[in-house]
Amino acid sequence: QAKTSGKDKTVFFNAGIGGQLSRKMELEKDLRLALEHRQFFIVYQPKWDARRGKEAGFEALLRWQHPKKGVVSPGEFIPIAEETGLIVQMTRWMLGEVCRQNKRWHDEGLFEVCISVNMSYRVFESMTLFDMVDEALRSSGLPGPMLELEITESIAMHNMAITLSQLQRVRDLGVGVSLDDFGTGHSSLGRLDEIPVDILKIDQSFVKNSDLTSKQALIVGIIGIARLLDLEVVAEGVETVEQAEFLLSRGCTLMQGYYYGRPMPPEEVEAGRWRITDISNKAAKAE
Ligand code: C2E
Ligand code: MG
Ligand code: MG
Ligand code: MG
Repeated sequence: QAKTSGKDKTVFFNAGIGGQLSRKMELEKDLRLALEHRQFFIVYQPKWDARRGKEAGFEALLRWQHPKKGVVSPGEFIPIAEETGLIVQMTRWMLGEVCRQNKRWHDEGLFEVCISVNMSYRVFESMTLFDMVDEALRSSGLPGPMLELEITESIAMHNMAITLSQLQRVRDLGVGVSLDDFGTGHSSLGRLDEIPVDILKIDQSFVKNSDLTSKQALIVGIIGIARLLDLEVVAEGVETVEQAEFLLSRGCTLMQGYYYGRPMPPEEVEAGRWRITDISNKAAKAE
């Protein structure tokens, strides 16, 4: 009997792996058609400026509405898009849409902010970043400073020379650059001053655990590094009022997280209901 159940387990295990492989293969196949079939949409997550009590900007995040599987998370499809190289076309589309959206908000007098778009190492490898950004800005008429690119430490370290020269060219258009998920990559701090960035985004893993003394020390350290290098600092993954207050008390006034707003479609951003959780009064008192 033990033998049988052992066998069953083996069969089940194999089926599991097989299932995963075929899902990945299916997604890969479907991803190739997703752009032309208009299955992507963009959600926007606010970055809150607690000092001024208003939005400081938004991060644009990609969503895939799969015709059969429902919404597939970027954690699942972005790696596939990177492997296949499809991420380059997707990013081009994303930049165009985001610039158009932001120009519309700007012209309607709704928001006067910067919107960020996440970059993949593949985009840098393809050497098309400048043309993509330039085209998106030109065709929308959006000023360069109203667009920001988020890169990670691993992108910057992946191929330093290629990354830096391309970043420099887009920065010459006035476009901002932020370092995403800061503190989680395996970069050497020693090269941070060589990467042309304007903003550090403290990774959510620090913020979520900011009731721990050790994480608090790291947060304070990152804020200090940002200040020394004359960079702005944004905390990611702020989920509770306690976390927001701690960050504020340490001089980090730019925040992003579910406490301030989840990523949402443009109609919800426009409705502005997410603005209710505002601790700017406390920010004013803290100064
Ligand atoms: P990221 O750039 O670090 O984006 C932040 C992620 O954390 C988002 O997940 C966001 O929804 C989530 N998040 C924000 N606030 C909170 C919070 O308070 N608590 C928790 N638990 N999570 C929070 P999402 O949208 O699933 O995106 C995951 C990752 O996928 C992104 O991480 C980014 O690396 C990648 N990604 C998303 N869209 C794109 C894209 O258009 N291009 C590229 N290259 N990557 C993208
Ligand atoms: Mg990001
Ligand atoms: Mg991030
Ligand atoms: Mg992240």
